[in-house]
Amino acid sequence: MYVSTDTQRRVLAWYRKHGRSFPWRETRDPYRTLVAEVMLQQTQTGRVGPIYGEFLERFPSIEALARAPAAEVIRAWRGLGYNRRAIALHVAAQIIAREHGGTVPDDPLVLRSLPGVGDYTAHAVACFAYGADVTVADVNVKRVLARAVHGREPRAVAPDKLARTIETWLPRGGAYLWNQALMDVGATLCRSASPLCGTCPMRRSCSWRMKGRTSSTPPRKKGERFEGSRRQARGRVIDHLRLAVEKGITVKDLFTKLHPDGGGDASQFTEILLRLSDEGLLQLTPSARGGHPRGIVRLPVKTR
Ligand code: SF4
Repeated sequence: MYVSTDTQRRVLAWYRKHGRSFPWRETRDPYRTLVAEVMLQQTQTGRVGPIYGEFLERFPSIEALARAPAAEVIRAWRGLGYNRRAIALHVAAQIIAREHGGTVPDDPLVLRSLPGVGDYTAHAVACFAYGADVTVADVNVKRVLARAVHGREPRAVAPDKLARTIETWLPRGGAYLWNQALMDVGATLCRSASPLCGTCPMRRSCSWRMKGRTSSTPPRKKGERFEGSRRQARGRVIDHLRLAVEKGITVKDLFTKLHPDGGGDASQFTEILLRLSDEGLLQLTPSARGGHPRGIVRLPVKTR
């Protein structure tokens, strides 16, 4: 496959001028990078920014995070959603402290074995913290190269073919800047619905543009609505427990707080409590586990 080094140079020059600035781009510290990448998995950059800073003030090192009670980590995760990631990150910190001498691994395969770390996050930490020459293919990177190289949307390119393209375009020795630059081209110019081709550093060689395509209709998002969803119900349970006193709250009081108007599905509520407990996000006394209204629910008090 032909790789235009001129295009690569133009992209990097554009990035030096127009790249976005984020607190996690000001550090190469592996712990801070890991925290940022886990937070960014399912939360937008604008929401992650302030919480990231507060989280690191509270848990400035792997050891501090590993030692903290799980309840404290869940509280510090407030505002990010998908609370399971807080528990996964906490357990990952404990494994790193115990099995890796407190140093975040640099090998993507070892990183991949940590809870909550998938291929993308493993590559992101290896590249952004350790400078490894690996691809970091988020949705933006995929969109830019699918359009620029294949003249198609990523969904119309076979995944292994697109992965090869992304790999081929990676400038050896320059992965750190290249990955960030492509992410920014995708996020700010090669936007899903209305790409700004006129100011794009890839425009001279972009297949999408040469085909005369200037906009695209993004596919309708499938999946559940957030309002009234199970995900929302799970989040509300944890949000109430964050505010509850340390010793917790009764099942009955928690249910009433969640449904002040008297509605609510009690069996779904019990099911959600049991599931959250299995995931390590809360603790139930035996009577709460059996659904007794006076049973106590609380954030986990012990480190795992
Ligand atoms: S020229 Fe347009 S379609 Fe091509 S990469 Fe740039 S913004 Fe995307």
